[in-house]
Amino acid sequence: MGNPIIAGNWKMNGTITESLRLVSDMKDELHRIPRVTKILFPPSVALSSIANLVYASSIELGAQNMHYEVSGAFTGEISAAMVKENCSWVLLGHSERRGLFHESDEDINRKLSAAYANRINPILCVGESLEQRESGQTQEVLRQQLAKATSDLPSINNLTVAYEPVWAIGTGKAATLNVVEETLADLRAFMETEWGDDGRGVPIMYGGSVNEANATAFGQSPYIAGLLVGGASLDAAAFISLTRQFAETKTQAE
Ligand code: PEP
Repeated sequence: MGNPIIAGNWKMNGTITESLRLVSDMKDELHRIPRVTKILFPPSVALSSIANLVYASSIELGAQNMHYEVSGAFTGEISAAMVKENCSWVLLGHSERRGLFHESDEDINRKLSAAYANRINPILCVGESLEQRESGQTQEVLRQQLAKATSDLPSINNLTVAYEPVWAIGTGKAATLNVVEETLADLRAFMETEWGDDGRGVPIMYGGSVNEANATAFGQSPYIAGLLVGGASLDAAAFISLTRQFAETKTQAE
C-alpha cells in the first residue's frame, strides 16, 4: 500500500484570490508533513494559479470533476486534457455530482475511462443515502456503484475509492468508526472477489464530516487509507492539524 492520503475538497468556495490566500496559509506546513499524500481539490478556475504556488512542494492537485468527452460542444465542462495540465488527480462520482447534477453510474464509468486514458489518478466516491442505510440497502448500493463505475475498464490500477455516506457529508455527523469499518470491510471483500490481488491494493478513504476532533480516531483504523475532507479543508489551521494527526497516527501504526 502507498502513503496514507489526505484530500481537501473545496467545492464551490472561494474566488481565485481567496483560494490563493488559503493555499498560502497552508502550503508550507502541509509540505513539511512527511509520509502522507496531500491533495487539494480547489475550484477549477483557480487550478492554474495554485499550480504555480505549489510547484516543487509535496502538495498535489486534483479537479473536482471533468467531462468524459475529449472536446466539443459541452458548454461549461472541462476535459481530461485540461485537467491534466495542472492536476494528477480527479474526484469522480461525488454525491453532490450524483444528486444535484444527476450524474449516473454510466457517466461516472465514462469519466473513469477518460481519467485512465489520460493517466489521471481517479478518486471514485461511493456512498449510500440515509434512507438506503436505514432500509438495509447499503451493501447492495455500494457494490452496484462500484461495479457500474468500473465496468469494462481495462484496469483498476491507480484507482482510489472514497466511501462517503451521503448522510455524513456536510452534516457535522461523521459515521462512527464501527459503521465505517464494517462498510469498508464489505467493500474490500467485494473488490477482492471482483479483481483478486488488484482489489486488495485499492486504497479506500473515508469522507463525511472529518475534522480535527475525529482525524486521529479514523487514522487508527487499519481499514481507512485516507480521508476526504470538505468543510474542514477550508480552514488552514484545521486542515493542517488533521493532516498531521492522521499522518502521525498512521506512522505509529506501521
Ligand atoms: C466532501 O465534500 O466530500 C465531504 C466529505 O464534506 P464534509 O467534510 O464537509 O462532510
